[in-house]
Amino acid sequence: MGKRYHCDYCDKTMVATPTIVKTHNRGMVHQKLVQEHYQQFKDPETILAEESKKKPCSRFATGTCQFGSICRFSHYTQEQLKAFQDYVAFKNKPQDVTFPSFEDLFHKFMVGKTSKPNDSDNGNTLIYDGNGVTHTLPWTYNSEYEVYGDDLPPSIKKMKLEDFAKAKIVEWG
Ligand SMILES: [Zn+2]
Ligand SMILES: [Zn+2]
Repeated sequence: MGKRYHCDYCDKTMVATPTIVKTHNRGMVHQKLVQEHYQQFKDPETILAEESKKKPCSRFATGTCQFGSICRFSHYTQEQLKAFQDYVAFKNKPQDVTFPSFEDLFHKFMVGKTSKPNDSDNGNTLIYDGNGVTHTLPWTYNSEYEVYGDDLPPSIKKMKLEDFAKAKIVEWG
């Protein structure tokens, strides 16, 4: 028995002579299966770009097109293409709420630490109380963490005046 060649796309085993393999690879069934295999990894942008260049396949509409995914005409309906367009438009739309990844935050934090604080940072270290007294906090608060809202651990939350209201003040000697 000679060497065997197995085509993974077609799940077919054949005698491994160059002619037989070449003929198989040129066959329409094989090409269709290869095309279908790669089609599933394409993103909607690619499919949309490819399909919008093609004319609709009139044979596919009547169910008589044998070319399947290797047809040079489009087998996507207007509705399907519209759905792709909507999806792509939605994906490229700037999102209102974006949560930066931890790496982004960490990077910003490290950069922020080495750069000089500007005036707008004062709000993070100054508290004005009801008696008109200005308190300067002995630490800087990193506003980048604010996106996490109430989920922040207390140690890096922004201090508010209310937070001190409940504090027990211990008299010192
Ligand atoms: Zn094959
Ligand atoms: Zn077709």
